[in-house]
Amino acid sequence: MRIARTVGEVREALLGAARPVGLVPTMGALHAGHLALVERARAECRTVVVSIFVNPLQFGPAEDYARYPRAFDGDVAALRDAGVDLIYAPDAATMYPPDFATAIDPGAVGARYEGALRPGHFKGVATVCVKLFATVLPERAYFGAKDAQQVAVLGRVVTDLNLPLELVVCATVRESDGLALSSRNAYLDAQQRAAAPALHRALSAIARAVHDGEYDRDRAVARGRAELPALLREAYLDVVDPATFEPPANLHGPAVAIASAWLGSTRLIDNEPISVRCAADETVPA
Ligand code: AMP
Repeated sequence: MRIARTVGEVREALLGAARPVGLVPTMGALHAGHLALVERARAECRTVVVSIFVNPLQFGPAEDYARYPRAFDGDVAALRDAGVDLIYAPDAATMYPPDFATAIDPGAVGARYEGALRPGHFKGVATVCVKLFATVLPERAYFGAKDAQQVAVLGRVVTDLNLPLELVVCATVRESDGLALSSRNAYLDAQQRAAAPALHRALSAIARAVHDGEYDRDRAVARGRAELPALLREAYLDVVDPATFEPPANLHGPAVAIASAWLGSTRLIDNEPISVRCAADETVPA
C-alpha cells in the first residue's frame, strides 16, 4: 500500500494501474461504515484508492473543522488490513493553494435541509469530490447511503458535468441499537448516546407508517416525531424524493425519510428508504 500526498504522486502511483479503479472518499477517523465502502470497492475493483482529507470547504466558520476527529495512523493500519492499494492524503494547502478560485455549485438539491443548515456545505463537498475524481480518475466512486443528500448532490454533479464514473451507494452501517455509525458519535456523552437511537426509531416509524398505508406525508412524519424524546431537538424530519430532496409527488414512488436532531451541541443525521407495499403484498380478506 502506498501513501500519496500530492496530485503528482497519485498520478505516478496509478500509472498502469489495473482497472477498474475504485475511489472511496473519506475524512478519516475510519469506522466500520467507511470500511464497508472499502470492502465493497475491494470486491468490485482491481485497484482501490481511499482518500483521507478533512475538507475545510465543507465546514462553516462556527463548525467543528478544528476538532473533527483525526486518527491517521490507525486509519492507515485499517486500510492496509483491508487490502487498499493507495491512500491519497493531501494537506489543505495542496488541495487549495492560495490562488484556488473555482467552485462547483450543485444548485437547488444542495440548498435544502443540510444545505440550509450548513450554507456552502454541498458546494464544498461537490468541489472536493470533483477534484478527487479528476485526480484519481476512478471508474467507480463509493459513498454511504447514510449521507443521502450528499448522494443526491453528487448524482446531480456527475450527470450535469458528464463525469465518466459510476457512483456506488452502500447501505448504512449501524450499531446494534440502530444508531448509524458516525465519526461525530464520539462527541456524545453517555446520556446522549443512550438517547441517540431514537433518531433511527423515528425514521423507522415513518417508513413503517407509509408501508402500512399512511400516504399522507404530514401524518406519516408526525408518527416519527412522536418517537423523539425531548433530549433530541429536531432540526428536520421529513419525507423527500431521494434524487431531488424535494417533497415527493406522492408516497407511492421513490421516497426517503430523512432526519436530523441536536443532542447538546452535536447534530446527528440519518435516513431510511421508504418501500411502499405493492399490490402483490396486499392480502385479500377471505
Ligand atoms: P465521512 O468520512 O464522514 O466524509 O464519510 C465518508 C464516506 O463514508 C461517506 O460516503 C459517508 O456517507 C460514508 N459513511 C459514513 N458513515 C457511514 C455509515 N454508518 N454507513 C455507511 N457509510 C457511511
